[in-house]
Parts: sequence; structure tokens; C-alpha cells
Amino acid sequence: MSRDHHDSEGRAATRSTERDAPAAMDGDTFRRAGHALVDSIADLLTSMPNRPVNRAAPPEEVRERLNASAPVPEVGEELSPLLERVSQFLFDYSLFNGHPLFLGYIMGAPAPIGMLADFLASAINANVTVWRGAPAGTEIESQTIRWIAELVGVPTSCGGLLVSGGNMANIVGLLVARAEATGGAVRQTGVNQETARLRAYASTETHTWLQKAADIAGIGTDSIRWIETDEHLHMDTAALSRAIERDQKAGDKPFLVVGTAGSVSTGAVDPLKDIAQICRDAGAWFHVDGAYGAFANIVEDAPPDLRFLGQADSVALDPHKWLYAPIEAGCVLVRDADKLLNTFTYRPEYYQLGEGDITNYFEFGPQNSRSFRALKVWLALANIGRSGYAKMIGDDMRLARCLHQLAKEHEELEAFTQELSVTTFRYVPRELRAQVGNEDTERYLNELNETLLEHIQLSGKAIISNAIIRGTYTLRACVVNFRTTEAHMDELVDIVVSLGRDVHARLQAR
Ligand SMILES: *Cc1c(COP(=O)(O)O)cnc(C)c1O
Repeated sequence: MSRDHHDSEGRAATRSTERDAPAAMDGDTFRRAGHALVDSIADLLTSMPNRPVNRAAPPEEVRERLNASAPVPEVGEELSPLLERVSQFLFDYSLFNGHPLFLGYIMGAPAPIGMLADFLASAINANVTVWRGAPAGTEIESQTIRWIAELVGVPTSCGGLLVSGGNMANIVGLLVARAEATGGAVRQTGVNQETARLRAYASTETHTWLQKAADIAGIGTDSIRWIETDEHLHMDTAALSRAIERDQKAGDKPFLVVGTAGSVSTGAVDPLKDIAQICRDAGAWFHVDGAYGAFANIVEDAPPDLRFLGQADSVALDPHKWLYAPIEAGCVLVRDADKLLNTFTYRPEYYQLGEGDITNYFEFGPQNSRSFRALKVWLALANIGRSGYAKMIGDDMRLARCLHQLAKEHEELEAFTQELSVTTFRYVPRELRAQVGNEDTERYLNELNETLLEHIQLSGKAIISNAIIRGTYTLRACVVNFRTTEAHMDELVDIVVSLGRDVHARLQAR
């Protein structure tokens, strides 16, 4: 097609209204390819329980199937066969954390509504950075933040934003605490100008985000005081108070205490109520890492200390864990929204920011261009509702308790901890039962269970992980998975015991 046009001297000219853009796709082609893709994803979801959780293929095999050493294609491949080929590759060589027997680490099974939401979000391609650039996206993110705050019991007047995951959410929390401790001066002067040394306090069970955050923030990991835990792996608050007092006497500045609401290893919830009081007394920022456990607060029989989340100055959460959002979706809430702004805002002259009561999200966090990840969280909350989530999270916790009970009753298993939806246990051969606690036996059981975990992970039958509990190597199952049922708990026990017998026999034969 072309359109008549007159040039600067009034001569008639013809300009093309079309362009040969290889990325463009006509409506019908898009529809056909999209329908076919949705069909194959639906088949994948239906067949998921009957597939292996993962295929333990060697890296060489994966690279060969991908043709990993091939250069960029000079001319693009045809759409339909390409989509089919890559789908098959992904279906064959992925670990499915949506599989009912995926119980490793802390990863949520992705809710299908989130898959549709990501598709829709990409189509809009909203850049949720300034309000004007994404009016709908910004308002959806703001409502998502209020909804999350309401769910977990943080005042909805808080500030907050979605980030990539728990690590980023926690890092943001630490940066706000750092700015607050220095009256914001640190943003200009840097930490080197601080006269009193900043000190952060966290239990020894804290996730490694803290080292990364202290490093990134320029405080350094040496500034962290690792507080010991009690026999249930919860922070020992008497030890916390002593550490703070000692540092204050030495002229240091305790600026941050981290409470964990659901530790990675065992799901331990720190005594948040007591920590809140200690923070008030010391004038320190109270941050809660609730990446795993905060959402459990909507369940009636949640650990009682979760009721004190609302006393934290900042809370990190992970919708891609217990809100079952597809990765990535993390969230940080800051009680006083201005403090988030005080930590991050710079106003460039190239943005038309607009006036009035609007949120420009680039001012609230480290990112500039920001994906519309809020849509998958918002749509899931809108579609599933509070009661739906309370039911699913409650069921996950119940299943973990059920597994703990099964391990207790089984004569070849030994149950360890059970908190939130994490259960730890280990395989103990019948004939070694009487020698548990004996030094040589313990050494052997550690080796046996470590080898056993490797076998389980490579079997494709189930994925669990491990936790080291005071030197004891335990197996660890974590249920953040709305597809898992009671029958899967029985199945897991059978898998562990049957592979446990094999591994023990093999180790004995050495
Ligand atoms: C998962 C987790 C993190 C890290 O979150 P990511 O989403 O993996 O970045 C931090 N702390 C706790 C307690 C977690 O469970």
C-alpha cells in the first residue's frame, strides 16, 4: 500500500504505508500459534502428575538437544515448528515445581491463572515505572500491595512494591533501614562517612540474602551479628539483647534486627513479638523476612508470632511461593511509605511525572523499567480470594503434619522438625535403630541420607531437599503445592524407604 504525499516543493510523491518487519505477525497467524501453544500447555498440565518431576539428564545431553553451540540463525525459523520444537525441549528437560511430588526447597507450584496473566501482561507490555506510562498497571500494583498488606496484617497505609523475589525484597528492606539510620545522609556520603559502625542482627538460620544485602549496601558482612537459636531453631532473644547492649557500649550503632517468619531450613518463625519490643527499646529498624511464611498468617492455626507482622518496619514476602504466582514475584512492604521514597527517589528531568496523588514506582525501588508482574498476583487474588488461599495454605500445612506423623509411625524413618509446611526426617535402617545417637552410627546415617537424597533427586519420582539440624543430615519436604494430596505423602514415604533400603545395601556392600 502507498499513500500520496507532497514534498517540500509541492511535488507529488508516493510513500509506502507498509514495512517488511520480520517481528510483525498478522492476527490470524498469532491466533493459530497461540491456540496451539495453549493446547500443548493444557496437555502438559493435565499429564503433569504422570510425568517424572524432572529428567536427570547430563548437561551434554541437554546441550545437544538444544544444539547449544549453533550460532545465531541468519534467517529465522518458521513459527509453528519452532514453537513445537522448543515446547518439547522444555517439557523434556525441565524440573516441574508444579508436579505434586515436587516438595524441595521453597517454590510455589504455579497457578494456571498466573500463566494466563503473564501472557496478558506481556501483550500490554506495561512499563510500571511512571504512572502516566502505565495507569492501569500502576493502579493494579498499588491495589495488589494493599491486598497483600491486608492479608498478612500490615497496615494498608504502608508503602511497598513488587520486586523479583525474596532476596530483592529483603535487600530493599535493608537499604531503607540503612537510609533511616543515617537520616538519609548515607545516600550522598556513603557508608565510609559514618562515625559509628552500623550493626545488623539476625539468627544463624537466616537466609543468605543478608550477606548479599550487607555486601551491596556497603556495610559489609562483618557487621552482621549472628544470633544463636533455641532448641527449636528460633532466635534466642536474650542473646539478641545481650549482643545489642554489648555493641552499644562499644559505640556501635545497632540499626537493624531481622526476624525470620519461616526459615528456609525448617520453617522456624522467630519470636516476632519479643523482637519488636527489643527493636523499639534499641531504636533499631525491625525487618521481617517473611518470604516463605508471612502468607501463612491468613490461616487460623498459623504460628502465633505471625500475628505481630504488623509491628515490623518492613516485611519481605514472596508471592511466587505461597501465593503460587509463577516466578518472578517478590514483594516488600514498608510501614511508612515515605521511608521507601526517602531511600530511592531521584527525579530525572526527562520524566513527565504528573501532579497529584499518583505513584511513580521507579521512585520506590532500585529498578527503572519494571515489568507488570503485579497482574499475575492481582488476578490470582481476584480469582481465588482470601478464603481460597486460606484453604490451600492450610492444606499445605496439614499435609506436612501428615508426613511428619507418617515418619513418626514408620519404623525405618525418624521424624525431626515440623513447622509451617516443612517436615524434616531421615531414613534409619531397622538394624541401626537401637544405635541412633552413637557417634559412628550418626556419621554413617549422615552419609546414608546424603547419598539417599542424591538418589531421590535423580530418580525423577520426587524432589525433596535437605536440612542440617545441629549436625544431623535430614531430609526435608516442603509443601507449597496445591496439587499435592495425602496419597502423595504415602507415595513419598514409599519412595524414601525403598530407595533408602537400596542405598543402605549398596553402602554395606562396600
Ligand atoms: C525463598 C526465600 C528467600 C529468597 O527468596 P527468592 O525469592 O528466592 O529471592 C529469602 N528468605 C527466605 C526465608 C526464603 O524462604
